Amino acid sequence: MAQKVLVVEDEPSLLETLAYNLSRQGYKVYQAKTGNEALDVARKKQPDLIVLDIMLPGIDGLEVCRILRQEMSAPILMLTARDDVVDKVVGLEVGADDYLTKPFSMRELLARVKALLRRERLVREAVTAEIDEQRAGDIDQEERLIQEKPLIFDDLIIDLARREVRLRDKVLHLKPKEYELLLFLARNRGIALSRDLILDRVWGWEHDAGSRTVDVHVRWLREKIEKKPSKAKRIVTVRGTGYRFEG
Ligand code: CA
Repeated sequence: MAQKVLVVEDEPSLLETLAYNLSRQGYKVYQAKTGNEALDVARKKQPDLIVLDIMLPGIDGLEVCRILRQEMSAPILMLTARDDVVDKVVGLEVGADDYLTKPFSMRELLARVKALLRRERLVREAVTAEIDEQRAGDIDQEERLIQEKPLIFDDLIIDLARREVRLRDKVLHLKPKEYELLLFLARNRGIALSRDLILDRVWGWEHDAGSRTVDVHVRWLREKIEKKPSKAKRIVTVRGTGYRFEG
């Protein structure tokens, strides 16, 4: 089902441009020209994301944001008319997730919308993964302990204190991202992790990296830690999802 985006903007030509471009990306777009209308439509349609202009006739965008934040968790992307730091600060204080300063490129806006929706989905996914993690029972609750205790998988040792990985007592030369990827996989041993979740946790939301990045790094890691990289036993591929660390 298409994700729903509500666009709130009183300037007709910009509203139209935004609605057009978002629809072309496959979103179901709803529009509102005033603060009151925005509240109305948001309550009726329960959008997955809201693009909200600050300068609106009647109730302004900040007030709309403050009200909606208490009623729904949909990410809110604020549009500010100028590079006004006060607007940005207040915007974030009233619960906006991100903001863009006018004029902005449509490409930038679409990228932000996509990132915010992805983040929302990942948060839900991560909650599920954490529940699985607890079930797996082999992850220490204390973050501090995790950081100090080496993770040992037969002849493969991840030494967190030294930030070092050893295989058969030989220190491996891993790039920083390879190390972080291995650590994330290892801490979630036995759990199928999607490329998106891996991407988020290891590379972060903002990063331009795509799922190919994950695949490439997994390939490099396999060459270093697997006996036969083509028949991986430690980092196994989960078809259609991502990867699972087996130890
Ligand atoms: Ca406006």
